[in-house]
Amino acid sequence: MFKKNPKKTFSKRTRGGNRFGARSKSGRGGKRGMADELDFTQFVKKAIQTTETETYNPRHRFADFEMHSKLKANVALAGYVHPTPIQDGAIPHILKGRDVIGIANTGTGKTAAFLLPLIHKTFKHQAEKVLIIVPTRELALQIEDELRKFAAGSGLRSALCIGGAHINDQLRSLARDPSFVIGTPGRLKDLIERKKLHIAEFNNIVLDEVDRMLDMGFIKDIKYLVALMKEPRQSLFFSATMPREISELAKKFLNDPVTITIKSRATSENVDQDIVRVDPREEKIEVLHNLLLKPELQKVLIFGRTKHGVDKLAHRLVERGFSADSIHGDKSQSQRQRALRRFSKDEITILVATDVAARGLDIPDVTHVINYELPENYEDYIHRIGRTGRGNKKGNALTFVD
Ligand code: ADP
Ligand code: MG
Repeated sequence: MFKKNPKKTFSKRTRGGNRFGARSKSGRGGKRGMADELDFTQFVKKAIQTTETETYNPRHRFADFEMHSKLKANVALAGYVHPTPIQDGAIPHILKGRDVIGIANTGTGKTAAFLLPLIHKTFKHQAEKVLIIVPTRELALQIEDELRKFAAGSGLRSALCIGGAHINDQLRSLARDPSFVIGTPGRLKDLIERKKLHIAEFNNIVLDEVDRMLDMGFIKDIKYLVALMKEPRQSLFFSATMPREISELAKKFLNDPVTITIKSRATSENVDQDIVRVDPREEKIEVLHNLLLKPELQKVLIFGRTKHGVDKLAHRLVERGFSADSIHGDKSQSQRQRALRRFSKDEITILVATDVAARGLDIPDVTHVINYELPENYEDYIHRIGRTGRGNKKGNALTFVD
């Protein structure tokens, strides 16, 4: 019901206009209006149990695809046996050279859906050049990791062009004439303006997480970038949703595209969602502390709203003896990567993050997402809780309300 209007912000519905979720300012625990109570109901939902009948039968096996044997061997090494639905649907069309729009939820394997056929293409024709545009640095890093995995042993070169990292290294890797360039819009634009990235040479383009790019205000940059690209080219758009602006963009920039839409239950349906009420007389951090002591909270992603708040909360948790770290926009790229790596490898059990820093992250086995501070809107909420309950695993989301 709420999904009909995901953009609607909470603040609009809380009468005090307090974007932090109408925290009771009276200090007397005075009863808040009904609107506030209604807001919180959308954070309470039982996970839907997956049933056998929903098991997916892929039409292809990776072995069936007409791809380079080296690539298939690397796919097998990565432990992939059957393609996911989006891979099953998109890979044959991309291999045929068609433009593709792929719509599927987070965690459904969109990365390999575009990487595999494009790697195959570069194996076949050395002159092929691929530009992958993504909304965040973390996502760019993840895609490069996957690329390295699938192209291992081939000598395929790639360049990562992301903000917050030294441009000199990027200039060096661009000078080596890479087949793949993966970047965020701002840095790509910067490199083009410096005449270090010759975008007109690229005849393959991927826009990944297009809906996030739209939300993050990158649409103008994307139009700028795509307009500079070579024709004819193969263009691929991947997104979890297809807002109107995106379909308009697709109409303009894609050539007779095949649209593959994977209808599946929202990722959030795998997630048990509940609220944690904080009594005004209690200290919020104490409530969190007690919660984190529960044995079932094994790998916890905590969301705060501001960079400063996230930093402070991680420090306070460390002071209290928890193994925690944080990621947010004010941290250097290497600090962010380090925190992510430690969390992924279970060296720390708690990661505190801002919305932007956590966007698109694929961290295995997060048992709980805690919304220590409310998200800006319901769509951000869905993105946050989508970090747990990936694949068919059940996840848990707890939202602090006061
Ligand atoms: P999306 O981009 O749709 O959010 P990702 O491409 O990040 O999803 O994939 C999510 C996870 O699933 C990754 O850990 C990836 O390695 C894994 N994965 C993708 N495709 C397969 C497959 N065919 N078999 C097994 N695991 C897969
Ligand atoms: Mg993705």
